[in-house]
Amino acid sequence: MALLLAMMLGGALACFCKEPWEFFALHAFDHLDNLDKQAEPARLCEVSVLYATGVGVCQYMGLPEKEPWESIKADTKKYVHHAKSLGIPVVLGYLCSTSIVNLETFDRNWSEEFRSQFNTPPKDWLQQDEHGKPLPSWYGGDYNPACMNHPDWRKYQKYMVKMQLELGMDGIFFDNPTVHEKGCYCPCCMEGFLRYLKSEGIEVTDTSLENLRRLAKGKGEVFKKFRCTIARDFFAEVRDYAKSLHPQAIITANNSLNLPEVLFSQCHQYAYNIKEMSKAQDFVVIEDMRTAPRTTADGKVYEMGPVYSLLNAILGGKPLVAVTIADSDYHTPPNLTNLAIFEGFAHQTNYMLWPTWQEQYRDKMMQAVRPFVLWLQKHKGLFEQSQPRQDVLLYFPFEQWVHNKECKELDITRELRRRNIQFGVASEENFEEAFKNATIIIATHQDFTPSSQKNSILKLCEMHKKHFIEVKNTSFVKEVEKCLTTPSIKLQSDGSIRGILRDTPDGVILFLYNLGVEKVSSYEDKVFSVSSVSVSVRIPSYKVSKITLSIPDREQTIATYELDQLDPKYSYLKFLIPELPLSTILTVVF
Ligand SMILES: [Zn+2]
Repeated sequence: MALLLAMMLGGALACFCKEPWEFFALHAFDHLDNLDKQAEPARLCEVSVLYATGVGVCQYMGLPEKEPWESIKADTKKYVHHAKSLGIPVVLGYLCSTSIVNLETFDRNWSEEFRSQFNTPPKDWLQQDEHGKPLPSWYGGDYNPACMNHPDWRKYQKYMVKMQLELGMDGIFFDNPTVHEKGCYCPCCMEGFLRYLKSEGIEVTDTSLENLRRLAKGKGEVFKKFRCTIARDFFAEVRDYAKSLHPQAIITANNSLNLPEVLFSQCHQYAYNIKEMSKAQDFVVIEDMRTAPRTTADGKVYEMGPVYSLLNAILGGKPLVAVTIADSDYHTPPNLTNLAIFEGFAHQTNYMLWPTWQEQYRDKMMQAVRPFVLWLQKHKGLFEQSQPRQDVLLYFPFEQWVHNKECKELDITRELRRRNIQFGVASEENFEEAFKNATIIIATHQDFTPSSQKNSILKLCEMHKKHFIEVKNTSFVKEVEKCLTTPSIKLQSDGSIRGILRDTPDGVILFLYNLGVEKVSSYEDKVFSVSSVSVSVRIPSYKVSKITLSIPDREQTIATYELDQLDPKYSYLKFLIPELPLSTILTVVF
C-alpha cells in the first residue's frame, strides 16, 4: 500500500515538477512595431511564456527622470499582473546584453547614490579593439556595445534584473549577447583570456595588457574559443544572482541562428556559440529570420526540423524554443503558423508565436491557432511516453566548429529528413548511450574520436560490429539505403511530406506533415493538400488492435490496413490516407 501510494505520489509529483516553459509549451513575444501588450491573444492561443518589453528599453536608452521612470515601472507591474491574471504562468522581462544607446546622455538621470555603486563611468564599459579604442556597434547609429565581462556593466544589469523581478516578472530574456566580430580586447576580457589560457594549460609569463592583446591576436583558435565563453559567463553570473533573489527566476537569451546555415559561422563571427551559452540558460531560444517551413511558388522547400535535431543533441537536455518566420516578415499566416508549431512539436521543440496581429486579422488567427495548440496538448502525454525511432545515428562533434565555418552535418540531416529516413543525432556528450542502440552510424570523418572514448568512430564501429558510413558527398544516402533494407517508414507521395515515428509503450505514433504550404501575404497562405498517401510503417508486432488518425477537429479509425510479417518480431503495417492537408497524428496500438 505504502509503495503504491509512493508510486502515485511520485507520478503526481513528476507531473507537477514540469515547468511551464518545458516541452510542449507555446512561447510568445508580445510586442511588434506599434503593437504591444498582446497578453490576451497570447493567452487565447494557450501561450505559457510571454516575453514582454517592460522596462527593457530604458535599460539601453538610459534611465528616465524620476517621475516618468516611476510611472513606467508602475505600468509594467500592472501589465505583468494583468497577464498573469489571464492565466499566463510565466512573464519574462527584456534586457539587452550589450547595448548602450546615446552614451553621452546614458547616465544623465542617475542619482548620486545610484552612481556611487560603480567604480567607472559607462564610457569605460565598452568593448574595445586591440589598441583599447571603443568598438563601434554592428547596429551603427548611436549604439555602443558594452562588454559583458565588465564588472560595472554586470552590476548595472543586475540592478535591472532585480527591479524586473520586483515588478513581478519571472525572469529575463537577454537579447544580443554579442561579442564584436573583431573581438573585445578590453582589460576585463584580457584578464579572462589569461584565465582561459591557464585552464587550457598554456603558461604565460608576461601578463601585461599589451602582451595579452598581442597573444590574443596571435592565437586565432584559442581566442575564438575564449570569446565563446564570454556570454556564457555573463549569463551564469546574472542567473546565479537572479536565483539568489528568486529561486525560480529564469534566464534565457536570444541565441541568434538567423539561418540554420550559420550554426558554426556565428561562433566565429559574433561568438554566438549555442552549446556554450546553453549551459547558463534555463532554456534556449533561437530566432530564425526566413526558414519558416513552407514551399515557395518556385518550388523551394524550407524546413527547420533538421537543425532542431542537431540543436537538441547539444543542449544537454535544455528545452529548445524556436521563432521561425518567412522572408523576414514577423507576421505568419494561419496555416504556416500551425505548420511551424507542428514541425517543432514533432522535433521536441517549442514554438515562439508572434501574436501581434493587426486587429482586423486577430480573430482569424486565434481561431486557427488555438484549436491546433489544444489538439497538440492532447497528444503531449503520449509523446512524452514515447522514444524516437532511429534507423541511423549521425555523430555530430559540435566542437569542430572551430575548424569549420560550414556545418556539414546540417546537409546530412536535411537529406535524411527529406527521404524520411529516421535518424538520431549524438554529440560528444551523449555519444555512449546513443551508440549502444545504433546499428548504422554516419559521420563526416572516420577519425573523429568522441571525447569519452580512446578509439576513433570507425574503430569503435569495427569493434562493436556496427556499420559505419563516412559522408563525403550526398551519395552517402545511397549507401544508407543499401544498408537499410527495412526502413522504419516508407511513404508513397510527393516529396513535401515528412514522417516522424516514435515507439510508445504499446504501439507507435507517427507524425505526418505537409510542407506544401505557400505564403501569399502576411495573413494569407495556400495549402496544397496531398491525396492518397500510402504509408508503410515497420512495427515491432505482428498484430494491430487499433489505428487512429487524428486531426484538430476530429479523430477517425483506420479500419483497412495490411500487415506483412517480416520476421518473428517485425511487420510492415500498410494503410492509405485519402488526403493530408497540413498535418496528422497517427496512433497505432498493438
Ligand atoms: Zn571586453
